[in-house]
Amino acid sequence: MSARTDTDSPIRIAVIGSGPAGFYAAGHLLKDSGAGGHSVNFEVDMIERLPTPWGLVRSGVAPDHPKIKSVTRIYEKTAAHPRFRFFGNVVFGEHVSREELLSHYHAIVYATGTPVDRPLGIPGEDLPGSHAATDFVGWYNGHPDHTDLEVDLRSAERAVVIGNGNVAIDVARMLVLAPAELAPTDTADHALEVLAESRVSEVVIVGRRGPAQAAFTNPELLELGELADADVIVDPAELDRALAVHDSGAEENITSRRNVEILRSYAERPPAGHIKRIVLRFLLSPISLIPDEHGRLGAVELVRNELVFAPDGGLRASPTEGRETIPAGLLFRAIGYRGIPLPGVPFDSRGGVIPNDGGRVLDPDGGVPLRGEYAVGWIKRGPSGVIGTNKKDAQETVDAIFADAHTDGGGLNVPTRAEGAEIERLLRERQPELVSYDGWASIDRHERALGESSGRPRVKLTRIEEMLRVAAGEN
Ligand code: NAP
Repeated sequence: MSARTDTDSPIRIAVIGSGPAGFYAAGHLLKDSGAGGHSVNFEVDMIERLPTPWGLVRSGVAPDHPKIKSVTRIYEKTAAHPRFRFFGNVVFGEHVSREELLSHYHAIVYATGTPVDRPLGIPGEDLPGSHAATDFVGWYNGHPDHTDLEVDLRSAERAVVIGNGNVAIDVARMLVLAPAELAPTDTADHALEVLAESRVSEVVIVGRRGPAQAAFTNPELLELGELADADVIVDPAELDRALAVHDSGAEENITSRRNVEILRSYAERPPAGHIKRIVLRFLLSPISLIPDEHGRLGAVELVRNELVFAPDGGLRASPTEGRETIPAGLLFRAIGYRGIPLPGVPFDSRGGVIPNDGGRVLDPDGGVPLRGEYAVGWIKRGPSGVIGTNKKDAQETVDAIFADAHTDGGGLNVPTRAEGAEIERLLRERQPELVSYDGWASIDRHERALGESSGRPRVKLTRIEEMLRVAAGEN
């Protein structure tokens, strides 16, 4: 592509996925074009498989964290830009292919996240009562893919959560929140009903390594100690054992140091006598899930680990001869998310991401950047960091697009039909139930109105058909 001038027609970008990474990328493209020497006008079309935007902000962030969700106000500003369009209920690879998009756009930005769980790979993992945290999180957040998940909270008094990240904390907290804490949230109605009848009174969070290696962030770990109905329990002896091996990397890390202080304070604190408990355990890995007499999960068999130095100097969990069995009717594996391949797009199946260099998608054979294809967010770097991390990440990808638009990078794609109306016609032909941003705005208004009478931010629609009816103005 030759160098562009002020008078060139707009550069058209398709962003696939409408979560934080997709919206930050769109925001940077629209805000920065024309500024800072970038004398080009970008037009952004966002393609989203659901009728609703915001990705994990809508369906991943815990319902009792409304402040985190308020970041959507920034995305709404981007969506209001005259050169932005939203095409919801359109599936990449089904309604429109990569090749078709390349014939309409100068660049495609993949922002599809890492939507599936990582399995434990142990016997019994598929027993009723054993769940991926990703499914449970989607279920309580009203994601239409998970509305029909069967979650039985009446048959179990103890749940085990595997993993020491913030998702494990979210899951544990949701299981013990008091009705008064849940009431003002946008938890899906189906989940509120099930949670109201829950008999779960103890949640055991299990880490395979020690407290200094946990991936929790400080505010999330602190929040566990402030719940209305639940004590937080840490065994001082186990804590000391797990801290006996030093990890200078973690000790230099301020978050880990603070986590250890918080956990020490929990270990020293006498229980307040709440009706529920969250127990934090360390140096344990599940090795088998054992069924009860009804064929449901009855217990979790675990191996005790010790920490050993890995060749890279970090500490890893190594199994010992020690075993432990925790009776539990529920298990949630919260050991990370994984990306899935997009039709026709390079994929690194080991890393679960799109291979890329600073956001430029790489040809898996030659390792050279593919013209006009970019990745952003979790599908670019893996499932790490908080929502705000995607802002910087998106800037890196957008900087690559700017450079390529000015040919000091590799150059953008050269579309054969760069007419905005044409792609919209094609998409509407392929998906007559395409949901525009106005359609989403109708869903948003409808959900907020439903929530108003009960003092909730919204009552989520959890079925695609319902969403489409409301988007079409048929509520
Ligand atoms: P994460 O932070 O990467 O934590 C995953 C945990 O699973 C780690 O403790 C890891 O232990 C453990 N694990 C991995 N494989 C395992 C195995 N085979 N057996 C046992 N344990 C295993 O992932 P996440 O909790 O899914 O969170 C994803 C990202 O979203 C994180 O960056 C998180 O901070 C963010 N998030 C933020 C919030 C918030 O800000 N409120 C809420 C939710 C999520 P090792 O360290 O030993 O590998």
